[in-house]
Amino acid sequence: MDNCIFCKIAAGEIPAVRVYEDEDILAFPDIQPQRPVHILVIPKRHIVSLAHVAATDEPILGRMLAVAHRIAADQGSQGGFRVIVNTGEIGGQEVMHLHMHIVGGPDPVGPMLKRRIGE
Ligand code: 5GP
Ligand code: ZN
Repeated sequence: MDNCIFCKIAAGEIPAVRVYEDEDILAFPDIQPQRPVHILVIPKRHIVSLAHVAATDEPILGRMLAVAHRIAADQGSQGGFRVIVNTGEIGGQEVMHLHMHIVGGPDPVGPMLKRRIGE
């Protein structure tokens, strides 16, 4: 996809530290971390959001969840983590390439849904 930031990161056209990568997915630190550990996991192929997935995307979606613990632990959040997938306007999605946030400690992440629009 032209002009998609995360497609450009996947293609290596915008720099990012690749903390996990396989043939279908890529993980890299969020540019504005909200917690000490804040990693984004994306499919390399452009998928707009969770509202745009097809049955053929199920293995990639499963892998994104399946590698989350390893990524969180590697990055210093051994005691757990939270995954968030903002979807569409109501979900507060800002980058229209499907991505999963992994946020973690060392301290507890805190109550759910703390971030407010405009914060
Ligand atoms: P959303 O609100 O769409 O779920 O989250 C998008 C996330 O992407 C934000 O947390 C934002 O900081 C992050 N982000 C936006 N542009 C870039 C970028 O160019 N590089 C990286 N690493 N993260 C980005
Ligand atoms: Zn994209």
